[in-house]
Amino acid sequence: MSIAIRIYNTMSRSIEPFEPLKPPIVKAYFCGPTVYDHTHLGHVRSYLAFDFIKRYLRLRGYTVFHVQNITDIDDKIIRRAQEEGVTWKDIADKYTKEYLEILQKLNITVDIHPRVTEHIKEIIEFIQLLIDKGYAYVAPSGSVYFDVSQVQDYGKLSKRFKSEEWRQEEEYLAEKRHPYDFALWKAAKPGEPWWESPWGRGRPGWHTECAVMSTRYLGTQFDIHGGGQDLIFPHHENEIAMAEAAFGVKPWVKYWIHVGYLTVRGEKMSKSLGNIVTAKEALDKWGPEVLRLWVFSAHYRKQLEFNETLLESFKVLYQRLVNAVETLKRIVKNSSIAHHLSDDDIATLRKLEEVEIRFHEAMSEDFNTPKALEAVNELVSLVFKEIEPRERLELALRAYTIISNFNVVLGVLDKHLKEKIELESDIIEKLIDLIIRVRTELRKRREYELSDSIRQELLALGIKVFDYKDGSKWVWEK
Ligand SMILES: [Zn+2]
Repeated sequence: MSIAIRIYNTMSRSIEPFEPLKPPIVKAYFCGPTVYDHTHLGHVRSYLAFDFIKRYLRLRGYTVFHVQNITDIDDKIIRRAQEEGVTWKDIADKYTKEYLEILQKLNITVDIHPRVTEHIKEIIEFIQLLIDKGYAYVAPSGSVYFDVSQVQDYGKLSKRFKSEEWRQEEEYLAEKRHPYDFALWKAAKPGEPWWESPWGRGRPGWHTECAVMSTRYLGTQFDIHGGGQDLIFPHHENEIAMAEAAFGVKPWVKYWIHVGYLTVRGEKMSKSLGNIVTAKEALDKWGPEVLRLWVFSAHYRKQLEFNETLLESFKVLYQRLVNAVETLKRIVKNSSIAHHLSDDDIATLRKLEEVEIRFHEAMSEDFNTPKALEAVNELVSLVFKEIEPRERLELALRAYTIISNFNVVLGVLDKHLKEKIELESDIIEKLIDLIIRVRTELRKRREYELSDSIRQELLALGIKVFDYKDGSKWVWEK
């Protein structure tokens, strides 16, 4: 696949060529949950949107290393624990467990899930480094603040460059040097959980956690940092300020990716607005496949409006995908090799190639999943309109390969694609012979584009094709 991947970078507000620092490795950090309540559909949208991006990069041959934090100590967790009369740890453990179960059900894999409370030592070291370098100061209460005035380019991600736009964490205002400085370490108030530090008992600030845990697993420079659009300011802005100051690197992160909100009647789905649908409810009602297809239908940067009728409609698409796969499997099992491909067969083969290219074109251009979904729909139509009636093994095999590739990104057909189509080795050789003959026929008809793409695909399978004047020969590579 030669279509170059391009990606929207919030930092430049433009679509840029995707060139990871050390290909084929892609190091990515996505901001995970603060575990004080149920995972809801707004979170699901965000995690799934990133999952599709990651899966597409994998389909294109990248090795993506994905870290997603769990914030297991925070004001909200402490408040919730006080309300329920339990410990903060009870709350954190309960919702961490639920979150991990939800991810598993949604078919989302994450390589590392670092928890804040397991990284307190690294966080303290990081804050000390910022103090030593003159970027942070200790206030009388024992809280430590980042001195925003020390950073020349503060505001570059959110494009907020005026100090009045930076005012944050008002409750700590009195002891800050500037109203917009932010807390790296929060001194413990009575009754709050704490860890010992050189500045007294306290706990880390949220921004500090992500800057430390991402770097801990991905190094002082990495490729992708993502999260919901609401994290651009102050969370990600502050992370950049801290990390670039502490490590002396620019840019700390190459690409900033932000996912749009899930909205209910135009308003962001959030706990505070009281309009949430929990992930568990949604999974029970629609199942993971339908949720995945629904999220896939919207571009990750756009808002996605929660609409039950629309969601319901993806049940139909999911069933069609399953039927298409089962149909292809049946054809492959029952039909034998043809020795001649009709013009119609060749036309269908060409349509299959085009559908696959359209999928890649859409996904390569800033992960345009709604456009890619059109290609998925076209593929399914081809299966029922052109492949099923003719029962051609070669068409079915080609469509099966394409649908398998699409599913690397969609992640909804794993159960149905799992059983490999078993073929005897002599049949495989006959099949290759057949494909070579088809290709020769195509070359005679001057269908060079299609014949070249077949050669490329065979090569990817370890089959090398040599073209001679009177035909082609093939060998297994190595
Ligand atoms: Zn974060």
